[in-house]
Amino acid sequence: MSELYRFPLKQCIGKPSVAVIQTGAKVKRGEMIAAKPQDGLGANIFSSIAGTVVSVNETEIVVDPDEKQSAGYVKLKKKKPLELIEEAGLVGLGGAGFPTYAKFSKPLGEKGTVIINAAECEPILSHNIARIEKRPEQLLRGLEIAMEVAGATNGVVAIKEYHKEAIDALRKILGNYKGMRIVPLIDMYPMGEERAIIREVFGEVLPVTALPLEANAIVINAETACRIAEAVDEKKPLIDKDMTVGGKIAGNAQDKLVQVFMDVAIGTPVQTMFDRAGGVNPDCGELIMGGPFTGKRTTMEDVVVKTTGGLIAAECFPKGPEKIGLLVCACGANKERMHQLAESLGSKVVGVECCKQAKEVNGNLKCENPGRCPGQVQKVMALKKAGAQAVLIGNCTDCSNTVMSCAPKMGLPVYHCTDGALRAVNHKIVRAIKK
Ligand code: SF4
Repeated sequence: MSELYRFPLKQCIGKPSVAVIQTGAKVKRGEMIAAKPQDGLGANIFSSIAGTVVSVNETEIVVDPDEKQSAGYVKLKKKKPLELIEEAGLVGLGGAGFPTYAKFSKPLGEKGTVIINAAECEPILSHNIARIEKRPEQLLRGLEIAMEVAGATNGVVAIKEYHKEAIDALRKILGNYKGMRIVPLIDMYPMGEERAIIREVFGEVLPVTALPLEANAIVINAETACRIAEAVDEKKPLIDKDMTVGGKIAGNAQDKLVQVFMDVAIGTPVQTMFDRAGGVNPDCGELIMGGPFTGKRTTMEDVVVKTTGGLIAAECFPKGPEKIGLLVCACGANKERMHQLAESLGSKVVGVECCKQAKEVNGNLKCENPGRCPGQVQKVMALKKAGAQAVLIGNCTDCSNTVMSCAPKMGLPVYHCTDGALRAVNHKIVRAIKK
């Protein structure tokens, strides 16, 4: 091993963690190197490898790994499940990064429900389903622990209905667990949005400002549930992460376009992960960390963090029009990312519109009814009026469909924020017009 492993001190919602190790110290795999801040939300951080700390600064800890590594780790010390969840540094591993222990801060009322979000909604990403197929008992054990901690009598696994193998694997053992059921979801983006999941499970649309607690529920990502089982049953801190790596991989071998990597050590350089996947094709467009809809541009020098779910080498950018209009979705690329994509297309942004269901809550956009299109004709017309020669959209499946039914008729070609990632793996692009 020669590459350095880096551990950013801010890897979740809340305050940065506080380094508890000095430069020059020897660390073991599973040893705590940064502690949850005492005065607010945050999470502990552990070294995922054995090695020597080569630097500690305000933003990160860097570890030079030893030549020899083992799969073992320093075990957690606490005893009770909720204490272990907190000690392990668990956060929402679907990308949100909300500290998991904080989800249990208010007890659920009578007949409360813990919902496992196994929608794995972003196209391309497939590591959650891969783990469920391989270890269905781990997911249900994580759900069982979460139900116990929350005082919930009901457990739900919300999963897209086309994942038949994963559903079969769960059904085979479901009878061993009390109060659990599977809720199949249709294949639509953004079915994994927390309030979309609540709607599908309870038939109730929560207001944009509401948390799942208002439906007497807690929603936990599938991998997070599996890591809860590891923390409680194996005393394992959060040091490994599952992820999907793919896109323009060297040689473009079909079997390498989308690959799942389980238990990748957090802190691993992005370059190392693409190398493991076969190396990046030199004619790729951009590197994305996350999924095609909500991922961010990354570099080979970045590292895998707790919330990393995908690494995608996208297709080259086509030449865009001189003037473009942006249509922003609450559940897709944010405004900043849309501007970045427009710049990469070589286009000047002449207008920005948000889907009318996208409402601002604490500086972020939230959709009033995720994935149910309110109509986009007005917004597309406004962009045309602003001088756009094409539109770049980040909309959900249903709204993209509506844009496709009007923009081309107005003479506006449509680009989607997911195009580069989806084209790189020969995935169908988000464009369908519903019949
Ligand atoms: S309805 Fe609008 S804001 Fe909501 S998911 Fe679809 S495009 Fe996004």
